[in-house]
Amino acid sequence: MLARADLRGRTLAVVSLTLDEARARAGVLSSVSYSLDLDLTGAETFRSLTRVRFSSAVAETFLELKGALTVSLLVNGAAVEAAYDGGRLRLTGLLTEAVNDVEVAATLPYTTDGDGMHTFTDPADGSRYVSAYLGMDNAAKVFACFDQNDLKATFAVSVSADPADTVLANGAVVSHDAGRWVFATTPPIPPALLVVAAGPWHSVRWTAELDSGTSLGFGWHARRSLATELDRDAAELRRTSEACFAHYADLIDEPFPFDSYDQVFVPGLNWGAQEMPGCVTYRDELLPRGAITDTQRAIRAVIIAHEMSHMWFGDSMTMTWWEDTWLQESFADYMGYRVAEAGAGFSDLRVEVEIGSKPWGYRADARRSTHPVAPLADDVPDVDTAATIFDGISYAKGGACLVQLAFWLGDEEFMAGVNRHLTRFRFANATLADFVESLEASSTKDVRGWVEAWLRRPGFDTVVARREGDVPVLERDGSRPNAFTVAAYDSALRLVGRRRVELGAEPLSLPEFAGLAVVPNAGGETFAALRFDPASWETLSGGLSRIEDPLVRAVLWSSTALQVRSRDLSADDYLDLVEAHLPAETRADIIEGVLSAARSVVIPQRVPASQAAGAVARVAAAAAAGLAASGEDEQRALAWAATLAATSADAEMLRGWLDTDRIAAGVPLLPTTRWEAVVRLASLGEADARLIATERDRDGTAEGDLGAARALAARPSTIAKDAAWEAMLAPGVDNRRFGALASGMWIPEQTHLLRPYVADYLAEAPALVSRGQAFAIEVGHAFPRIALDAAQLDALRAALAGDVPTILRRSWEDHLDDRE
Ligand SMILES: [Zn+2]
Repeated sequence: MLARADLRGRTLAVVSLTLDEARARAGVLSSVSYSLDLDLTGAETFRSLTRVRFSSAVAETFLELKGALTVSLLVNGAAVEAAYDGGRLRLTGLLTEAVNDVEVAATLPYTTDGDGMHTFTDPADGSRYVSAYLGMDNAAKVFACFDQNDLKATFAVSVSADPADTVLANGAVVSHDAGRWVFATTPPIPPALLVVAAGPWHSVRWTAELDSGTSLGFGWHARRSLATELDRDAAELRRTSEACFAHYADLIDEPFPFDSYDQVFVPGLNWGAQEMPGCVTYRDELLPRGAITDTQRAIRAVIIAHEMSHMWFGDSMTMTWWEDTWLQESFADYMGYRVAEAGAGFSDLRVEVEIGSKPWGYRADARRSTHPVAPLADDVPDVDTAATIFDGISYAKGGACLVQLAFWLGDEEFMAGVNRHLTRFRFANATLADFVESLEASSTKDVRGWVEAWLRRPGFDTVVARREGDVPVLERDGSRPNAFTVAAYDSALRLVGRRRVELGAEPLSLPEFAGLAVVPNAGGETFAALRFDPASWETLSGGLSRIEDPLVRAVLWSSTALQVRSRDLSADDYLDLVEAHLPAETRADIIEGVLSAARSVVIPQRVPASQAAGAVARVAAAAAAGLAASGEDEQRALAWAATLAATSADAEMLRGWLDTDRIAAGVPLLPTTRWEAVVRLASLGEADARLIATERDRDGTAEGDLGAARALAARPSTIAKDAAWEAMLAPGVDNRRFGALASGMWIPEQTHLLRPYVADYLAEAPALVSRGQAFAIEVGHAFPRIALDAAQLDALRAALAGDVPTILRRSWEDHLDDRE
């Protein structure tokens, strides 16, 4: 018999692992391996049986296990009274001369917030899906473990599930019979990278013969109610997977490290995707209903390539502690764009980097919370702090820095260093210092100096263009060596010349471009703000949409949005540019990027509340003009329609769209845009609860439930806002519903009505975040997306002067910085 403690109903005080604890434990434990048996057949709770073997230099340590309802413990064959505080399980009496064998049997609750063993019942068909979403320090919500990246271990996993379910996990399936699934033992991986996904998945599978003479099983999986969508996209998903896989095989010396490659669209994932070894999970919004737009296809291909790169960058070679998050995410960001373009054939992805990704990095880098791409370990003292650095710095800026590194070093030297690193640390852990050593061995350049300037310092330089007479001169306001392309245009915006420059501390004169308008960073190679000389700006801003190269247009648009943020350009001037030039823009990704900046950055952060309605109306006018100018180009029309649906005050037009399920002849109303229109009508007071219920029934999916919740919350009445706020506070509200309610709640033109809820949010949010990191991030996202007045900003400052949990504090400080 195993000793058993009943922990039902106790309050947990779970603390996140600290750097000091992790270092101490890694110093005394070694040769860790796990056997894990999960029983997912229970309706309310699941059972987790962990057997962990390890060597220890000390007699005492601890396993993490979070929120277990019952726990029993066997240490080297003997039943032991579990010393368990709801977060950690104390192990005593360990052998120091022989291998220890510890068994932990636990009952744990399912979750609905995307951290841990997440359950989801599909309203479309009643099917239930149960998936372990780990990462960060969530593994302990599923099994007892030494939950840190540098205690890698092999995992032998078996799962009992509903016999009608398919179960997916990291390793290939060894056997399955009557609901019991056994998986091949994994190579050494961090506990946080374990995955299990059970449910009646719809699957598309194939086997590929590899150059090495072996074969590898591939699969794409989605909820049964998304079978039509998966089948619609299956050929492209397979082609993209195979092309990226082949490209990595060319690029990377180390063979693919795992025994299978499944990719699953899962419900309720907090991340865009998670790089679980051999079995990647994607949020299933990436499999949209109706048509998928070209921008969505391109971004999805980038994510596929991003996650595949993690098989090496992160899964095989893993950071030691979280300060090197960039060493995984910046690489995956960089490789995602590179391989989706060069391998899978999605063209012009640098445009998306400039218009969609890098602005995220610039915004993050301009806040007080900015940090070096590669911070010091001591600056990331615990896992909660680590959860705050999965930000625009670690992804977008780090990825941009690697573009700059490869451009400066030369691609051959860069890839030689990268390959040396991946081979040295196969199935092991590494740090920045190890990476620098790997790069130095393949280059004669001053890699250390580059790393110091680009990865160890926060912030970014500004490249300033001025004139000496007619001659453009570039100067650097900052401290980094910037290598980039300069493009020069005549007054008709014809490209006259391009050249590569390296800008250091000395001004750089460009006599060959005398009298011409110049665009620094025209190839998007560096990560820097731009200031144009007045003559160049007059030419460029006078004909933005006529510049032939979409990458240059994207660079200019992003630079403009950044100038609004730094208050070098007014919101009015920005909206003038949008109205004057965006309707003629030919690329949907640029249209979407500019409109997103206008709606999510410029209006809430730089337009006073009293002028918000006018600013939204200007965006709507531009969208109407853009839609009219789209002609036969359906991609452009769909991009414009999405924004018009969310900003228009023309209720009759929006109702017409719902009636016909079309935007215009030949342009379908996509399900997501349809919900934008319903939410918009609701916010205008033009859609009542009955109309919303009719729309929800017509839709019949999880997305329809969320759309209806959002629309009900958007209605301009205190009763509707009260109901939404109460629903957000309901215990157990799931992550998606919480996000939908918040999105419906905060409408820029309802500032007056929303006043009391801003105060309620500040008062009640800190208590909501105790559910865990993912929900804490969600609560941060629910921050009022409206203009705040001076008194409200003071209230936010006062709240921050008190005790605010780590993740929420980071989010609030960012919101405050964005508005100051
Ligand atoms: Zn990633």
